[in-house]
Amino acid sequence: MNDPRQKTAGIEPAELAHSILIVGGGAAGITVAAELKRLQPQLDIAIVEPSESHSYQPGWTLVGAGTFTRKQTERREETLIPKGVAWIKAAVAQFLPDENHVRLSDGRTVRYAWLLACPGLKLDWARIEGLNDTLGKNGVCSNYRADTAEYSWRLIQDFRGGTALFTQPAMPIKCAGAPQKILYLMADHLRSKGRLSESKLEFCLAGEALFGVPFFVPPLQRAVDGYGIKVNYRHNLKAIDGPAKIAIFTATDEHGTTSEVTKRFDLIHVVPPQTGLDVVRESPLANADGWIDVDQATLRHVRYENVFALGDAASTSNAKTAAAVRIQAPIVVHNLIAAMKGEALTHAYDGYGSCPLTIAYGKIVLAEFAYGGKVTPSFPLDPRVPRRSMWYLKTKLLPWLYWSHMFKGRTFDIKHRERGW
Ligand SMILES: Cc1cc2nc3c(=O)[nH]c(=O)nc-3n(C[C@H](O)[C@H](O)[C@H](O)COP(=O)(O)OP(=O)(O)OC[C@H]3O[C@@H](n4cnc5c(N)ncnc54)[C@H](O)[C@@H]3O)c2cc1C
Repeated sequence: MNDPRQKTAGIEPAELAHSILIVGGGAAGITVAAELKRLQPQLDIAIVEPSESHSYQPGWTLVGAGTFTRKQTERREETLIPKGVAWIKAAVAQFLPDENHVRLSDGRTVRYAWLLACPGLKLDWARIEGLNDTLGKNGVCSNYRADTAEYSWRLIQDFRGGTALFTQPAMPIKCAGAPQKILYLMADHLRSKGRLSESKLEFCLAGEALFGVPFFVPPLQRAVDGYGIKVNYRHNLKAIDGPAKIAIFTATDEHGTTSEVTKRFDLIHVVPPQTGLDVVRESPLANADGWIDVDQATLRHVRYENVFALGDAASTSNAKTAAAVRIQAPIVVHNLIAAMKGEALTHAYDGYGSCPLTIAYGKIVLAEFAYGGKVTPSFPLDPRVPRRSMWYLKTKLLPWLYWSHMFKGRTFDIKHRERGW
């Protein structure tokens, strides 16, 4: 008997058709597919996903810090596609929501009754002049790619003093805390090796605050002060010359005057600018900013009733995180099932996202928040306090929950809620 998980490339007719089409087999796509199948095994579902493997991206911070190996973060896609779900191994090249189909990179089309769009976002490495030529060598690393996260750890281990720069582009980016997590972990590593005093660490960020939710700024400021890190606000990385070890920033002062600032580095950790994927930006699904235009609560598309979106690709103003996907997925699933029955959509997303801020090895400030910067912790503990228990959550519990629960369609909601401090 044919296993529907088999790749369909090259063995299917030019036009495919599925009742529910999921675009993107990443954190969001696998989770919704698994949950839909668990609730309604008879559903005809296909996932369009070009990659052979999927990475647990929250683990890349730990790869960059030497706590995880890259292998620990990776699984073969074929082992993740839920049983009974077809895998169309291709990329969507064009969304045609007015005709209820997508065109694939190989020219085939797929018709659908319902579309769940979750193809993630674009890491725009090319927007930084010179970066593509030097990333992964000359002291230029990034935890936003698995291979260059491994390189981060090599550089950190070999660092014998000098200048280390850490960049953060304009928001939105996935996991807004990731650019500074590796900064604190490197600082802590240098301190443990007695090398912090010979090192100059600088955080160069496009924004004007250490974190978007002001409640969490004080513990981060304490970390910055404690490690002696220099913070340069309104500094946007523009170009990089790896062999010359020079980074060029566009800096804006408080009066709005811009200038070019050149900084020398021995190590630089770069976070690329991030946008909606080109295929999304060029489609009728996109809003003016290039994200899939959904209702902030129901996650249904604002113009196409048979389209839902979630994850990094969606226009929701939450923090783009796997934690957000964990909460969004059951909402999309329940609302989709209701929509298929012609019923009202009853489930609403509150904008929950979470960011485990690694202040040091073994210490995490678990930032959990929802729309409007509401602080919504899962635990009745002051979330501003760096805790070892949250380190175990990040390094042990969350990866296990991701692979063993989310990806099996088993909803788990450690109830987060607004609490006062
Ligand atoms: C360094 C780093 C640290 C992070 N840390 C955390 C953290 O601590 N906590 C946390 O919760 N989150 C964290 N995240 C964010 C989290 O990993 C993402 O928010 C999450 O993976 C989003 O899921 P997604 O399904 O929307 O996107 P993805 O998981 O990226 O999946 C998108 C999928 O769509 C596929 N795709 C792309 N284009 C097409 C196309 N044209 N057609 C079909 N398929 C396509 C891709 O191949 C991919 O498989 C981190 C991310 C990074 C990079």
